[in-house]
Parts: sequence; C-alpha cells; structure tokens
Amino acid sequence: MFPARLADPMADERTQPFWDAALAGRLSIARCDTCGTFVFPAEPFCFSCRGAAFTYTDLPGTGTIYTFTVVRHPLAPRLAEVVPYVSGVVELDGTQGAGCRVIANIVDVDPETVQIGDRVRIRFDRITDTYAVPRFGPDAG
Ligand SMILES: [Zn+2]
Repeated sequence: MFPARLADPMADERTQPFWDAALAGRLSIARCDTCGTFVFPAEPFCFSCRGAAFTYTDLPGTGTIYTFTVVRHPLAPRLAEVVPYVSGVVELDGTQGAGCRVIANIVDVDPETVQIGDRVRIRFDRITDTYAVPRFGPDAG
C-alpha cells in the first residue's frame, strides 16, 4: 500500500471545501454558478465563461478510467515498496459537457490488466486528522 507519510495539502479558501468533504468521505467539486461547468482543481475563474462564483456540488464518486500509466520505477525512495502502481485520469460521472477529470492513484487493480474504460469508484484514505487522500478502486457496482 502507499506510504502514509504525505504532507497535508496546501489548501486555501477555494480548495478547503474539497478537503473538508474528503475527510467526510464525499467527493465535492466546485461548479460554476453561471454556466454549470465543473472546475477542478478549483480556480478563481471558470475556464468556460470566466464566471467567478462557484458552489461546491457533491458527485457520486464513480467514473471511468480515461487514461493511466503504470509506474514501475520508484520516483522517490519511499515508493520502492509500492511499485508497480497505477496513476490515472478518471472521468467523473455526473459531470456534463467535456466532463470533469481527476488525476489520482488507482488502487486494488492489477497493473497488468487495468484498462482504459474500466469503471472505478472513489475512496478517501485518511492520512492525518485533517487530510484524506482521494484514490480510486474498482467499482463493484
Ligand atoms: Zn462558467
């Protein structure tokens, strides 16, 4: 499994709602109040309409692997025990238009058989009292 020694995210007033929801086991993404586009990570302005007002909206946390890579060489010494592992981009259910994609580790999958299009579900692994990291695993349905 992944090492537990991860630093807390550098959250600010725009991103703290995401991390608060993660601690509670929910996926919540900033949605533009003007045009409805999901903007993740949260930005000061909507990339679609330049609107500056957002409301955090809960999503089901399921999605589809859009792309992925299998990391076989540890990029840091503390990762030596976890290679090979899968990092991927997941297109989230419940987002419209171009969709909302999240970069995350994909765990509990076989790096030799994981495929684009596989269904996954988010989970939040609590690292500290203030930080839970989002990861995806197989969607059991
Ligand atoms: Zn917008």
